Amino acid sequence: MSDALAYARDHASRFRDELFEFLRIPSVSARSEHDGDTRAAAEWLAARMAAAGLESEVLDTPGHPVVLGEWRGAGDDAPTVLIYGHYDVQPPEPLELWTSPPFEPTVRDGRIYARGSADDKGQLHMHVKALESWLASTGSLPVNVVMVAEGEEEIGSPSLVPFVEARAERLACDAVVISDSAMFDEGLPSLLFSLRGLAYVEVHVRAAKGDLHSGAYGGAVANPATVLARMIATLHDDQGRIAVPGFYDRVKEWDAETRDAIRALPFDEERFRSGVGAPGLTGEAGYSTLERLWIRPTCEINGLLSGYTGEGAKTVLPAEAMAKISFRLVPDQDPKRVARLLEDHLRSVAPPSVTLEVRELHGGNPWRADPGGPLFEAAGRALEAAFGAEPVLVGEGGSIPIVGDFERILEAPALLVGFALPGCNMHAPDEWFTLDNYDRGIGALVRLYEELGTTLR
Ligand SMILES: [Zn+2]
Repeated sequence: MSDALAYARDHASRFRDELFEFLRIPSVSARSEHDGDTRAAAEWLAARMAAAGLESEVLDTPGHPVVLGEWRGAGDDAPTVLIYGHYDVQPPEPLELWTSPPFEPTVRDGRIYARGSADDKGQLHMHVKALESWLASTGSLPVNVVMVAEGEEEIGSPSLVPFVEARAERLACDAVVISDSAMFDEGLPSLLFSLRGLAYVEVHVRAAKGDLHSGAYGGAVANPATVLARMIATLHDDQGRIAVPGFYDRVKEWDAETRDAIRALPFDEERFRSGVGAPGLTGEAGYSTLERLWIRPTCEINGLLSGYTGEGAKTVLPAEAMAKISFRLVPDQDPKRVARLLEDHLRSVAPPSVTLEVRELHGGNPWRADPGGPLFEAAGRALEAAFGAEPVLVGEGGSIPIVGDFERILEAPALLVGFALPGCNMHAPDEWFTLDNYDRGIGALVRLYEELGTTLR
């Protein structure tokens, strides 16, 4: 392993130059005018994987291609690790808010500023370079490797599940490693232990067949805006708990160890509050801010629409009111069941003077790792050696449905180890990634493959 680490150190500046080449390709998956660039990024990546010593190919899907890389020289007795990442990026707009152009990587204060530097080209490239460091210096790797890099993550990965399902045998592995997340703070390597799931519904409340004069009809015909507001007000109790009957039935309580680990994190609540600019924080009684964000489910109104919202006054009695409502879910809640419970609840509180339509838009399952298992132990040793600090356990309030999909289809546990930093502007102007984490992270991954080689065997 020392040879691989020395190789990574000796070639650090070339690694960065290559990353900058990758970042210059505007692989914006959401924009069809960039389809050629997105394919160019896939081909660039396949060529770099091949140069690192993997067998690589660009495989077509109904959307953007998947780059597949394989190295199976460790033999049948050695474990196989699947490394997942994505080479597509978010659109860079608004361009005027970038200090330097999004597709011209620029270093300022030890940070690489470019779209994709953190999410996820930088972190994906680190894996390619860690693999190269092993293969170029020793001719071998401690594990068999399958790399899957998709080009549709930023548009919801529509082709990935069918791609993985169709190749479940070829992609069979003992663990899935993903580097597409952030550390809790600078110098604090982090392992992700949970992701929240999502259930998203749209609700329409209707009364009259068209908008009415509020003087001529108001008082005798239901106002859907008022009705919907009253219905929404029944979704929480005064302790911040969700009041939909049955909602908490499948919520697993977290063990004391995980809750202690969350409480031990150096979290500055006042900095968090002033960062969002709200006069105060709120949430479910009995839980801390990080627990509310990571391990407890929520219900949010994402949009409301009704009546007249233009300039000046218009005395209208609206015919309809609409709300977009979403739930962040925790293990073992099921998005379809939660959507059904919401509909049952809304129907039970809706008055007979209105009609109700509830549409389920989309959903994703929550995910939870076993922080006491061998994967976390292996990753813990690798991260501690590379960063000189014991890794912390962190949750993630957002949703990455593909993690659960990989576990379900391939029947292998996932390890989420990310190297971005808080405030790195993923999806926003001036996205950045530190040079230091790029270099150290490659060292951590070199060590991680070795740790997995012994732990998973
Ligand atoms: Zn990403």
